[in-house]
Amino acid sequence: MQQHTQQQIKPNYPTIASLDVDTLSAGEHRFWFQVSTNAMGVGIQLPVIVIKGEKPGAKFMITAGVHGDELNGILTAHKLARKLEHNVDAGVVTIVPSVNIPGILSHSRDFSSSDPDASPANLNRFFPGKVDGDAANQYLYRLWNQLLKPNAEFAIDLHTQTRGATYPLYVFADFRLEPALEMARLIKPDVILNDPGDAGVLETVWNSSGVPSITIEVGMGKITQPELIERTVDGVKQILTHHGLMKGSVPEVLPCAVEGRALRPCEHAKVVLSSRKWNYCRKWTQTSLLQRNTMLLAKY
Ligand SMILES: [Zn+2]
Repeated sequence: MQQHTQQQIKPNYPTIASLDVDTLSAGEHRFWFQVSTNAMGVGIQLPVIVIKGEKPGAKFMITAGVHGDELNGILTAHKLARKLEHNVDAGVVTIVPSVNIPGILSHSRDFSSSDPDASPANLNRFFPGKVDGDAANQYLYRLWNQLLKPNAEFAIDLHTQTRGATYPLYVFADFRLEPALEMARLIKPDVILNDPGDAGVLETVWNSSGVPSITIEVGMGKITQPELIERTVDGVKQILTHHGLMKGSVPEVLPCAVEGRALRPCEHAKVVLSSRKWNYCRKWTQTSLLQRNTMLLAKY
């Protein structure tokens, strides 16, 4: 006689294959988005949170976890979901906190493919995916076409730097796009870098699709930094207030202290050390900071 398990730890939210936030009522909605299947044919499902205001307004898309080991970005997305609940007055905020589920489950930056002979893939080089591509490309194709693209007028992609690099709060924005630079400044980061874009990067694909976008590097990979998470959450709330989604006095858009260019290692260490919120780094010597900044120009 068979024994049937009753164990169920996964919340029983509706599973969807596509999303159109225009059809949803005001309030908070949670879904599982079926993005793909694994090699056993079992569905890979991403959590999706939609918070919709009573009034019409802009549609924001917030993504995190494109790289599976970037904890601060993922935690920022979850904290935003908690903070925005019952606080979005107009428009729609859609949050996808765990884009790369196979990577997250294996504590890996890269996507673990179900293709028989495939190597792990950096998903942030293959957007918007291909309908007839390999497993990573098909994964991104469905994510982009069925979930992300139809539901966004502005986009924010949350990351951290690659492990081994020491970073404060960085934002990448294409300075040719005023709405993107404006979003970057409203975050009030330590540094804003001018980013003309690279093929296959989510931020670049958003921008070239007419959706102004920024990439936020919330500190370092593989560790959690509550102060940087808090600053990023506050910054995103400022963006949403600026665009009328949240109530409150409209924040002034001011230039960041360091804008437009990559920093030399010694400048970088100075910014890191002078960042008032960056207490973790003060435990280290400046020499070690300089050594670790060899990955200074690593993007996303
Ligand atoms: Zn990343």
